[in-house]
Amino acid sequence: MTEHGRPDGIIIALDGPAGSGKSSTAKAVAARLGYRHLDSGAFYRAITLAALRNGIHPDGWGDLTHDELDRMDVHGRPADRGYVMTIRGEDVSVEIRSGQVNAHVSQMAAVPAVRQWLMDALRESGARGGLVADGRDIGTVVFPDAELKAYLIADAEERARRRLLERGVGDPPLEEVRAEAGLLQGRDAIDSGRETAPLRQADDAVVIDTTGLTFGQQVERIVALARERGGVDRSEETP
Ligand code: C5P
Repeated sequence: MTEHGRPDGIIIALDGPAGSGKSSTAKAVAARLGYRHLDSGAFYRAITLAALRNGIHPDGWGDLTHDELDRMDVHGRPADRGYVMTIRGEDVSVEIRSGQVNAHVSQMAAVPAVRQWLMDALRESGARGGLVADGRDIGTVVFPDAELKAYLIADAEERARRRLLERGVGDPPLEEVRAEAGLLQGRDAIDSGRETAPLRQADDAVVIDTTGLTFGQQVERIVALARERGGVDRSEETP
């Protein structure tokens, strides 16, 4: 048992707007420390996909009950130091990144009953520590006692450019970058403006502007902060 009282290590919370590189950074930091990575956005995405597949109109999402959410059979299956999202046992890792899910996920995530329903599952995954969790409200609501909270920001066009590059479309033209930046900012506006658990920086979070940083630099920065806060390298151990 470590001084922070979590058997598997500290909890690292990474929050920030859409496309700020939280998930890829969180995954790399988790690999460096031998921790588990929890991508909370993937859970909201999987619920959104399940509702769309079930033909539930977005206008009715605000009325979803606990039982209806249970029946959608959405789970995060622990795998390779992360979680694979499944619906009725089917791996939906690729489909939850579709344009249709992007367009609707913030609407689902604004429903208080949905957030409440997810909370237990998210907190349970962190019970032993040794976790890097990323999202919008990880440091403020899900793990307010996380040993390290980082808030990642980056210029909107830079976030959009990285997104498009990740999709493998080569160096994207400026109009495409601007259109993508508009979509990301639309999602940020809903995420920041909602009443329940809005996107906001925790008072005790370290703000990291990644606009001028390479991916490797931002990972190093967080790994260094984690070590200062008691994060111990467990990467030699088996998952
Ligand atoms: O992180 P990602 O962009 O995949 O998240 C998708 C959406 O899920 C966000 O735009 C937001 O609406 C929602 N989300 C949230 N709270 C979290 C993580 C994600 O509301 N902790």
